Amino acid sequence: MIKIKSPDLNLLESDHIKGLFTIVSNRLDKYLKVKQVILQKYSLREILVGDPETLSQIVDYLEGKLNSEDKLNLKKVFNYESFSRSRLYNAYSLAENLHVNVCPYCNRQYTFTINKTGNPKKTRPIFDHFYNKNTYPYLSLSLYNLIPCCNICNSSFKGSLDWQFFSHINPYDSGFGDECRFSLKINKGFGSDFYFGKTDAFEIKFTKTSNSKILNNIGDLALEQVYEGHKSVVSELIKKEIMYSDSYISNLYHQFEGTLFSSLSELKSIVYNSPISEEDLGNEALSKLRRDISEELGLNNY
Ligand SMILES: [Zn+2]
Repeated sequence: MIKIKSPDLNLLESDHIKGLFTIVSNRLDKYLKVKQVILQKYSLREILVGDPETLSQIVDYLEGKLNSEDKLNLKKVFNYESFSRSRLYNAYSLAENLHVNVCPYCNRQYTFTINKTGNPKKTRPIFDHFYNKNTYPYLSLSLYNLIPCCNICNSSFKGSLDWQFFSHINPYDSGFGDECRFSLKINKGFGSDFYFGKTDAFEIKFTKTSNSKILNNIGDLALEQVYEGHKSVVSELIKKEIMYSDSYISNLYHQFEGTLFSSLSELKSIVYNSPISEEDLGNEALSKLRRDISEELGLNNY
């Protein structure tokens, strides 16, 4: 789980309000009873662009005050399908503004947006509703409830599970950071095979954490299971550890310093294909795996 770091969230919020406020407000006018409940404590603006914590307060306040008919009406008001099909501000506009190029849930799949005017070949991330839209229809169009992610995380794993701010990590709010890192567990009897990068010699696990939100994300998104398929990345790092001795790295650095590399850390990040900073984790697939394991193997002692 990688924190979403979009270039300008203020601009994003203002575009979201400009694109949706009037449409939603007009629809809400058709359902005066439910409008009264919905807007009694929180404004439409707070519902549409309130931060993840505000959304959780809205849920706490509204759940119990709305019956099933109210929720059916709210589905028509906060109509995600209509937003995704709109010719004006729509899911493509939001995806383009967000620039989230790798799924923040799994950090495995690319989620680039391609949307050139006049070209029918388009793609964008799926938007997962952190608070699922059947149970919480009033958050169906809330910016910080729309998580750009890959199809596997959305359809195969998350689905309509009941995630809440107190139970799961919302990637607009935070990521696993250093609180939970990838780590290698060497299987019994495979000591020397591990040192030559044999994939059946080790397992990829997460470091122990008591953070229940992180544990719930790992379990629901099957992260340990899906990373079993990425052992070859780790195997390559282990082999590189053997191939690139300190003196070899040092020679490369002195040979190309100032031309190919501006620093030793840049050279090592290229050799080990491992990002230098936390900021870069969201730009490349598997970057957290590479960074955590490189650091565990001692490859990133810059
Ligand atoms: Zn994913």
